[in-house]
Amino acid sequence: MSPQSIAFIDLVAQQNAMRDRIDAAIGTVLDHGQYIMGPEVREFEAQLETFCGAKHALGCANGTDALAIVLMAWGIGPGDAVFVPSFTYVASAEVVGMLGATPFFVDVSEETFNIDPASFEKAISTARAQGLNPAVVVPVDLFGQPADVPAIEAIADQHKIRILVDAAQSFGATLHNHRVGTWGHASTTSFFPAKPLGCYGDGGAIFTQDDELAEVMNSIRLHGKGSEKYDNVRIGMNSRLDTLQAAILKVKLEAFPEELIARDRVAKTYERELAGIARTPQLIDGATSAWAQYTLILENRDEVQRACREKGVPTVIYYPKPLTQQTGYRDYPVVEGGTPVSEGLSARVLSLPMHPYMTEEDQGTICETVKAALAS
Ligand SMILES: *Cc1c(COP(=O)(O)O)cnc(C)c1O
Repeated sequence: MSPQSIAFIDLVAQQNAMRDRIDAAIGTVLDHGQYIMGPEVREFEAQLETFCGAKHALGCANGTDALAIVLMAWGIGPGDAVFVPSFTYVASAEVVGMLGATPFFVDVSEETFNIDPASFEKAISTARAQGLNPAVVVPVDLFGQPADVPAIEAIADQHKIRILVDAAQSFGATLHNHRVGTWGHASTTSFFPAKPLGCYGDGGAIFTQDDELAEVMNSIRLHGKGSEKYDNVRIGMNSRLDTLQAAILKVKLEAFPEELIARDRVAKTYERELAGIARTPQLIDGATSAWAQYTLILENRDEVQRACREKGVPTVIYYPKPLTQQTGYRDYPVVEGGTPVSEGLSARVLSLPMHPYMTEEDQGTICETVKAALAS
């Protein structure tokens, strides 16, 4: 086996398994020519609703717009504080700043990588003391595990704070037997190619149980359209899911339940092989993960990463810097006491190859390489 032959996420193997059906689906779109809001978009949305058990699923251009559309529908803007974990991908906070509201950073739990309810609760009074209106909390389902939304809800409800779940990494996961997409007042996901359910370009979706919210969000993603095409009733944006991407996603969604099982098998093998020697990811009670990433916490992370590189095992650091330390974000407010857990994680996390088409042989090589690096 040549070095570098192991993929971090193997989209080639996935494509090989379904290429004929994807080609046929693309061909259908080329034949009917309805590239914008063609029939595949609504068909895919209906499949998403069934899959998640969500009342409404709305396709949109990407997972970042999905977050923005929800916040716009709620009228979030200047003076509003939106609580976001410091340890996440930038998009979770970016949309808040883009709308002129204030991303307010809170810490995460070292056990789950997800928002720490105690830190969120503490941040509410800090935000009020700074003259901000505590408006929204964004639990992020980092690496595929659902955030503890019931614990967040218990706090948010008392303060009339809305919950927007950023499920960009967790599509397919469940919490207490309910799929991601049914939690919070709204949730969003991304179909970026490397996400658990990915398309061949950009794509995203928004989920809600709320009819009125769904209607407003549908308008926003279509330039604020009203009931007549040329009577636009609000400021919106251009954020549609492409028909071609919807057609590809319909094919990929068919294989997705099997892929989730395969991802879980890969995770269980890692757990069995590595639990004794490294901090492996732990799930909260009642949660399953979509395993967007399989992330270890390592005291000697950089040595392990070097050893992996030498053996052709790809690894990635998600995320090397918490948002509170990033140039565009460090002037935004942060919970009293800061976000030390996020900072500590950034220095120690390492994500291993994770995808549903992993061979036992490749996984064996990865585990042996990590074990050897940890033993030396
Ligand atoms: C990928 C991601 C997004 C953004 O999704 P895009 O489709 O790339 O815009 C938002 N939040 C998190 C946590 C993500 O991982």
